Amino acid sequence: MAQIHPKTTPIYQTSVFTFEDLNDLELYFEQPDQKYMYSRYGNPNSDELAEEVNKLEEGEGAVATSSGMSAILTAVLTYCQSGDHLLCAEEIYGGSAALLSQELTRMGIAVSYVPSQELYTLDGHVKENTKLLLAETMSNPLLQVVDLQRLSAETKRTGIKLLIDNTFATPVITKPLHLGADMVIHSVTKYLSGHSDVTAGTVVAAKAEDMERSKQIMRVYGLNLSPFESWLAARGLKTLQVRMKQHCFNALAVAEFLSRHPKVKQVWYPGLPQHPQHKLSKAQGCGMFGGMLSFRLEDDLETVNSFMKALQHIPFAPSLAGVSSSISHPLRTSHRSLNPEQQQKLGITLGVIRLSVGIEETVELLADLAQALEKTK
Ligand SMILES: *Cc1c(COP(=O)(O)O)cnc(C)c1O
Repeated sequence: MAQIHPKTTPIYQTSVFTFEDLNDLELYFEQPDQKYMYSRYGNPNSDELAEEVNKLEEGEGAVATSSGMSAILTAVLTYCQSGDHLLCAEEIYGGSAALLSQELTRMGIAVSYVPSQELYTLDGHVKENTKLLLAETMSNPLLQVVDLQRLSAETKRTGIKLLIDNTFATPVITKPLHLGADMVIHSVTKYLSGHSDVTAGTVVAAKAEDMERSKQIMRVYGLNLSPFESWLAARGLKTLQVRMKQHCFNALAVAEFLSRHPKVKQVWYPGLPQHPQHKLSKAQGCGMFGGMLSFRLEDDLETVNSFMKALQHIPFAPSLAGVSSSISHPLRTSHRSLNPEQQQKLGITLGVIRLSVGIEETVELLADLAQALEKTK
């Protein structure tokens, strides 16, 4: 056959790899990084994705997983077993809370939630059997920014691991391992793949031995990512830097516009000077504030519905971080399962709308929002 030198990695759409003889098989066991055997254990496409994310996060190894959820599961099981306890920041992705509170507790891993104002003083929360703290770089939907350096100093002081969900920030804005975290997870479904066409996750570790354990969990639980999804995600990842620049540029313009609009009661965006962690966010994010923001209209069903219907180019789609903008409604989607007191406490009311700002032309985005607000009741 002719020598083929593709510029991009082909899709290795195969569940298994062949061996010439027993000597060839032995090479696989001696150097598992050099050869492949079975796609659930490893595949060139999922390895390529993991390696690229590992480079961006400056880790000591990474593994691709079937979703952000399976990445969190992998990371937690790397450090915890039955009888252990873990801490979780109170403002956390709803799926993560469901995994911890409803599923892992059944397997004997206990969880307690730490209020935002107590994150940097963990003495009252850490017990003998506490193994880790899970937090997000930027919270959903109100974009609270966590001081990762302070947090990692506190987890080190109290002898627990720090696991950071860096989905909202991406390594373009913040590299948690660099700031002292032990492990980073991503929903690759969001910015890393970036085109709303993949469900995937990844775990990145600061220590190679932790990653060995994570890989073992991925293989045995069957949490691997398929070759095609890996390929799509790796393809999206190539434009992460330029996409993030435009997401951030647009989001700041939109946040400034919304904060001046009479029908908008409140805007949550770390790039606005009035945001409580604006300074921290600026320093930690190298002057970039991300593509997510939330704002509050009147807390009234008809107001919200009329705004949603009036938008012409921004659909209501309960996910985020794609190249085209979308809105979501935290109270009725991501934070639906919280009880009314919890919702009230977090400030997630009927009028709160989360906007995932895409990479469209800035003027077109602003024009759509302006005309929709005009028609809002
Ligand atoms: C979406 C999301 C997840 C879950 O990821 P999936 O890819 O949907 O499994 C976890 N954390 C955050 C912050 C997310 O936004």
